[in-house]
Amino acid sequence: MKAALVGTSGAVLHQARRATGREHGPDAVVEGILGFAAELRAYGAEHLGEPAAAVGVAVPGIVDAEQGIAVYAANLGWRDVPLRALLTERLAGVPVALGHDVRTGGLAEGRIGAGRGTDSFFFVPLGTGIAGAIGIAGRVEAGAHGFAGEIGHIVVRPGGTPCPCGQHGCLERYASAAAVSEAWAAACGDPDSDAAHCAKAVRSGDPLAVQVWQNAVDALADGLVTALTLLDPRTLIIGGGLAEAGETLFTPLRDAVRQRVTFQKLPSIVPAALGDTAGCLGAGLLAWDLINLKEESA
Ligand SMILES: [Zn+2]
Repeated sequence: MKAALVGTSGAVLHQARRATGREHGPDAVVEGILGFAAELRAYGAEHLGEPAAAVGVAVPGIVDAEQGIAVYAANLGWRDVPLRALLTERLAGVPVALGHDVRTGGLAEGRIGAGRGTDSFFFVPLGTGIAGAIGIAGRVEAGAHGFAGEIGHIVVRPGGTPCPCGQHGCLERYASAAAVSEAWAAACGDPDSDAAHCAKAVRSGDPLAVQVWQNAVDALADGLVTALTLLDPRTLIIGGGLAEAGETLFTPLRDAVRQRVTFQKLPSIVPAALGDTAGCLGAGLLAWDLINLKEESA
């Protein structure tokens, strides 16, 4: 868990991290969050002159932001956890916002990160899987059921590798950091070798690595062109572990996207700026939005 006390305009005043404790079960994780939030609020009162005025929490899985419920999180074993109500109760009535981790990270990248100042963007973190956040006019679109932006499960290789989602040939089976690690480990014969090693081998001109890398870049470009055809974003923000390869990824990726578009306008394709703190900062922005909305309606 990453947490921060966030000032106006996203300034980080204090940061803390701790383990989720998920090995102790789903309820222990909830209790851990409640306790962590209460401690941070007290830290603000003690060291910054005032306690946090609102709280934002970003969680993985399926989130009903409107009802404040973490509907499903496979990693944490959660089903229908009323996180907003529990936090409001623990923190004596402080307003609480709940968000989805990738959309919340996208909100931060769009407002104070790589997309700062842009009116429309698509944020795609390439990690264990691939997800996406559709940014429009200062907010992130969740869709009718909270599934908008799931670019990782766009089929780019029909009849291809099976995906746990039930389809075959999903983008994340080819272009996530995990997929590239797996493909490179198989190609080079070292089970401990990963995507970062592959990127390094690409830079040294290893033809096998270049082949593995290009397969991922091609799949990613196919998926991104589908997304930009639908969304017409001004900026494509690429994050997650694979984006840490820098220009080893971005140079061939920009070429591959440029080669595929016909009538579509090319967005600028840029690396994410906030790293793994994006979700945490975005949760802070959600909390600020609660306060600002309250002031506007007062
Ligand atoms: Zn899938």
